[in-house]
Amino acid sequence: MKKIAVVGSINIDYFVEANVLPEKGETVLGNQFFMSLGGKGANQAVAASRLGAKVSFFGSIGSDENSNYVKKMLQKEKVDIAHLNVAKDSHTGVAFIEICQSENRIVVIPGANRETNISYIERLLDEILEHDIVVLQLETPLEMIEHLVPKLFEKGKTILLNPAPALQIRKEILDKVTYLIPNEHEYQIVMNEKGTMEKLLKKFSNKLLITCGINGVKFFDGNTLVQVPAHKVDAVDTTGAGDTFCGAFAVALSEGKDLVDCIEFGNLAAGLSVKKKGAQSGMPFREEINLFVR
Ligand code: ADP
Repeated sequence: MKKIAVVGSINIDYFVEANVLPEKGETVLGNQFFMSLGGKGANQAVAASRLGAKVSFFGSIGSDENSNYVKKMLQKEKVDIAHLNVAKDSHTGVAFIEICQSENRIVVIPGANRETNISYIERLLDEILEHDIVVLQLETPLEMIEHLVPKLFEKGKTILLNPAPALQIRKEILDKVTYLIPNEHEYQIVMNEKGTMEKLLKKFSNKLLITCGINGVKFFDGNTLVQVPAHKVDAVDTTGAGDTFCGAFAVALSEGKDLVDCIEFGNLAAGLSVKKKGAQSGMPFREEINLFVR
């Protein structure tokens, strides 16, 4: 089985839930608090690991108490963290998520994630290159991604880029990515093109996979526009659905499945994940998913 590296962000998510959110200068009493491991990189690593893949995580934590929590959580999830970067003058990334009814407001402070930079990547390039599939997102510095992608491409690695949060990416970088996986709100920003979805899918056939929530995933296979339907579920919370899709898609690729089967596997895992609250709590384990796989 091929090895997967996730190079990306890691945060602690602090959730607070209240009946009303405070106005400027106001304080309100809320109802519930919980914290969990988060960050798109860590989420995708956990999604892949739960599905049975060998996953190494490359990213940065601070030298604070939170870093111990993060390490413990990733180890519990059997993600290899041997190459984590401990940033001396920084704190572990945090996200503050205020939930009110089904709306939320989020402030993210990247902290140590800013240190997942070119010099860290250069230091660990040999270790990253020991992996066959490399999964990237955009919560770490863009110049690091632009530096890493051509090096991975040169070595023939399979590169997955989930361009979230959406930023414009240069065409020469997009050309080197194997699979570009934005959602339907992100793809136009990433490509800086206003054209229809169909036009862009055709331009990047078998590469651009657009996740469309309840409508599954769309791509162009060179001949036809393909829509791989989502798994039918009663969704409770779709936070992290895209991360689960990317992690699961990488696992299916590592097992040598063909593109449509990889997307189906991703849709199945992501569909199961939205049945529970929170990004990681609903991410399925392999045994769960095996019940559905042909
Ligand atoms: P993101 O979480 O990045 O916004 P999407 O909303 O497109 O991404 O969701 C990613 C994938 O998760 C979808 O392609 C689909 O497989 C699955 N998914 C999302 N929402 C639902 C839903 N309501 N029911 C079933 N599957 C869903």
